[in-house]
Amino acid sequence: MTATTDAPVRAARPRRKKGEGQWALGYREPLNGNEQIKKDDDALNVRARIETIYAHRGFDSIDKQDLRGRFRWWGLYTQRKPGIDGGKTATLEPEELEDSYFMLRVRIDGGQLTVAQLRTIAEISTEFGRDTADLTDRQNVQYHWIRVEDMPEIWSRLEAVGLSTQEACGDCPRVILGSPVAGIAEDEILDGTWAVEEIERTYIGSPAFSNLPRKFKTAISGHPSHDVVPQINDIAFTGVVHPDHGPGFDLLVGGGLSTNPMLAKRLGAWVPLEEVPEVWAGIAGVFRDYGYRRLRTRARIKFLIADWGPEKFRDVLENEYLKRKLVDGPEAPAPATPGDHVGVHRQNDGRYYVGVAPTVGRVTGTILSRLADVVEAHGSDRIRTTAQQKLLVLDVEQEQVEPLVAALAELGLEARPSAWRQNTMACTGIEFCKLAIVDTKDRAQWLIAEMERRIPELDVPITVNLNGCPNSCARIQVADIGLKGQLVTHEGEQVEGFQVHLGGALGLTAGFGRKLRAHKVTAAGLADYVEGIVRTYLDQRADGETFAA
Ligand code: SF4
Repeated sequence: MTATTDAPVRAARPRRKKGEGQWALGYREPLNGNEQIKKDDDALNVRARIETIYAHRGFDSIDKQDLRGRFRWWGLYTQRKPGIDGGKTATLEPEELEDSYFMLRVRIDGGQLTVAQLRTIAEISTEFGRDTADLTDRQNVQYHWIRVEDMPEIWSRLEAVGLSTQEACGDCPRVILGSPVAGIAEDEILDGTWAVEEIERTYIGSPAFSNLPRKFKTAISGHPSHDVVPQINDIAFTGVVHPDHGPGFDLLVGGGLSTNPMLAKRLGAWVPLEEVPEVWAGIAGVFRDYGYRRLRTRARIKFLIADWGPEKFRDVLENEYLKRKLVDGPEAPAPATPGDHVGVHRQNDGRYYVGVAPTVGRVTGTILSRLADVVEAHGSDRIRTTAQQKLLVLDVEQEQVEPLVAALAELGLEARPSAWRQNTMACTGIEFCKLAIVDTKDRAQWLIAEMERRIPELDVPITVNLNGCPNSCARIQVADIGLKGQLVTHEGEQVEGFQVHLGGALGLTAGFGRKLRAHKVTAAGLADYVEGIVRTYLDQRADGETFAA
């Protein structure tokens, strides 16, 4: 019905907006269980209880709010009980799904390791983690089968070599990604290592940032290859040269994947190296105070950026937190694809670094221990992890390069891997993750071997990323072929399979893959499917046409 001029018109009453739980607007009362746990006790305090109580009395003594809430702030999650199939993930209670063993994440800020640190990581794996050690796509190492009884000894060994699990998970600043070639790349714009270390020293473990609305992921790289995937971090500093001020960083905020993927937005500011920690703390403060705490699904900083826009965000940052204006700056040019540094490359001092590709980041403590021996025997003391589940050995003299490449290959660490091995990633999956619906790591290893046999001639990088559930730990939306684990119907039966996302990318052509309703594939049919679409691309591509295009 259309209103006429003589009909009584009732003025529309403005709808009262429901609070989003923003502290800065006065919503200090917890609006959900997670916020309550964080308010009841600073999550970092759980370490003292682990050391004085739980490690002595065992798994069954652990308070449930500590177990499923605060333990994460020290890098600990319960892992999935073996043998529970993916169809039960959504229906079982947490206590039915969780094992009495833990996944433990070690943060490696900037991905920088010495041989002594690598040996310690390896020893902990073999002694306490049943020889498990996965390299994550955030430069961490992740163990499984860890017992709470062993945590005091594990922390003692890690901290003796300068490593930590503090804030490796939880609603806090996670590991800080840093360029794996910081300080050594010939084409580096500037070295961000000081900023990575300063933020870690000053703010990680600080009560100022131990209760954020959700996780807060940082990336800092002065390398032009976007090797820390800045477009999908909560905050990213990316190297760029300002025409008047020289090398510094382009500032991006609000990237993230999962169920509402968004690319980070530029704030249009240029930040010199020495100001990075202050600006980082300002942005973490905006997130802490204005971030949404009512719904967990809207609590990442990307939702605040989406609602405010980068201009308002920058205004609040400058006026309320920094109390000064930032310098306007140019956009950091994006590369065709993010760099993974695999292969043999010259350093800026004339020596070389060698990047290798462990298959989908899966190694063992035994392999890492032998890697430490190999690295040392070839005259290096520096190893780096990458945001693509790879490893680099730095500072190699020219005459040692080929012997090192051969020794690494014997460990299954290939410096000249096939395009399939180099560009396939997988998340933890059903083997250990309580949220998983399907297997990922073993399946990805099988898929790589199949594809190396079926299309050995692949001459372009096609990224294949496998996730075990709708979360995006392995970045499915930005892969050429993104595979989201789910159950699919096949001949009337529910079987493990994947929803396919096609044509996602990071870098110059960044965008999310298309999710076509019909593109679902059973796990058993995965190799046939990948072979089919890649062969079609290879047969039909125009000169220089990428898979994503
Ligand atoms: Fe677990 Fe899902 Fe993340 Fe994979 S994507 S590690 S299954 S939460």
